[in-house]
Amino acid sequence: MGTKGREILKERGINVEELVKILNKAFADEWLAYYQYWIGAKVAKGIPREAVVAELTQHAADELRHAGMVADRIIQLGGIPLLEPKQWEINTNCGYESPRDPDVRTLLDQNIKGEQCAITVYKKLIDYTKDKDPVTCDIALKILEDELEHEEDLEAIKEDIKIMCK
Ligand code: FE
Ligand code: FE
Ligand code: MG
Repeated sequence: MGTKGREILKERGINVEELVKILNKAFADEWLAYYQYWIGAKVAKGIPREAVVAELTQHAADELRHAGMVADRIIQLGGIPLLEPKQWEINTNCGYESPRDPDVRTLLDQNIKGEQCAITVYKKLIDYTKDKDPVTCDIALKILEDELEHEEDLEAIKEDIKIMCK
């Protein structure tokens, strides 16, 4: 994005530097979510292990794709995506939950919590950019749709477990 593009966003009430900071926090979240899913899928134990591993692996791929979408927008806005992994921990909204307990039920609960946080983050970003920066708003909406689906998928597996254990 050039000088004029930034000027237009400014006229619409968007502080580009602040927006880049918000996007970098979401970027940190996406990387941590990616790793939480990815490593969770590797260490998962319990029943139904295969269904959980398949879902976590698919979600990991989605989170990595989200990181790419957010990074591309940061760069378009003239910003720099966080360059150091250690900055992910510092900038994250939603944090990282280690799969120290590899039980599939614990992993599901941890990841559901993460998705609920992500949903809040993208809803806020939509509110922040609505009618002001339609490009960022559209990216946030696309990601929000995925996060809503992730939450639903994990909750559905949790329900299946309940039914199985009865
Ligand atoms: Fe995501
Ligand atoms: Fe997600
Ligand atoms: Mg899914």
